[in-house]
Amino acid sequence: MKVCDHIENANGSTLVSYEVLPPLKGGAMKDIFNMLDPLMEFKPPFIDVTYHREEVVFNKKDSGYYEKVSIRKRPGTVGICASIMHKYKVDAVPHLICGGFNSQETEDALIDLAFLGINNVLALRGDARNFEDRFVPEKGGHKYAVDLVKQISKMNDGNYLDENLANAQPTEFCIGVAGYPEKHFEAPNFDSDLRFLKDKVDAGANYIVTQMFFDNQKYFEFVDKCRSFGINVPIIPGLKPITSKQQLNSIPRKFFTNFPEDFVKEVESYSTSAQVKEAGIEWCIAQSKELKSRGVPVLHYYTMGDSNTIMRILKEVI
Ligand code: FAD
Repeated sequence: MKVCDHIENANGSTLVSYEVLPPLKGGAMKDIFNMLDPLMEFKPPFIDVTYHREEVVFNKKDSGYYEKVSIRKRPGTVGICASIMHKYKVDAVPHLICGGFNSQETEDALIDLAFLGINNVLALRGDARNFEDRFVPEKGGHKYAVDLVKQISKMNDGNYLDENLANAQPTEFCIGVAGYPEKHFEAPNFDSDLRFLKDKVDAGANYIVTQMFFDNQKYFEFVDKCRSFGINVPIIPGLKPITSKQQLNSIPRKFFTNFPEDFVKEVESYSTSAQVKEAGIEWCIAQSKELKSRGVPVLHYYTMGDSNTIMRILKEVI
């Protein structure tokens, strides 16, 4: 079933969903199952699986020279989606990015998903690779997520890249896209970011999932601003509990989100990691409860492989 149908069928009650990362190369599907098993009691109708493109690493050789090697540390998105659907009978949402794919390869990936009965996809641009200072599209690939959304929408209309196909079957993808309550870091200002977000919706996106945020007011303002821009699709808040003091610096650096001063002061006042973790859980519980009371469609948790923490939160919220 499609994410947008799950939301519609919920008739205004708040659903729960998770984002999981493929295990590091060499890991196994049981790592994902062990993490998800206890979380299934909260009945998520869908689970997202992230996509990770290759990174470049430099390995030191005996000669003293460095060898440049391209590796994908977390392969397996599509296989994991199929396994999740098979084991738990819930829907899986693979993340699909522009980076590293030309549009023909994207079409082939979408055909594979459709054959597997996966009809949800989160369409993203992806970030610059670790050795590049800006995002560089693949030759013949997409520069922005909106172009990926357009390609998927065309396939939903039965239009494939090969125009000579006779009786091509329309795909049935429900398309999610990313939104940024605190603005995407490359956007020159909030309004231009929202204009481009509206372009994604106009191109066929059915819903938006937000970047993590720690101040609900930012989410509420973002939703209001989206509505004033004519963006009327569901906007799913993305939530991540803080589990260490060091994340106060690493999360803003990586995800360009701010922490409210009250929370920073509280975390800084603690001397043990257990106290910090507890504060992060309590903060996320409070965020979740308020979002739920305001009728958000879904509470979407970035699990980062830590089911115990998410369990603690959901036991208080659901
Ligand atoms: P876009 O919508 O293309 O926007 C990128 C930037 O370009 C923005 O600043 C936007 O304002 C601007 N822009 C858009 N269109 C235009 C235009 N026509 N002209 C000029 N500027 C334009 N990354 C992964 O690699 N794998 C994942 O699994 C993954 N999952 C994610 C899940 C969520 C919920 C979120 C919020 C992010 C995720 N990301 C993932 C990260 C994402 O790929 C990055 O944030 C990336 O930098 C932007 O992706 P986007 O789809 O928002 O890009």
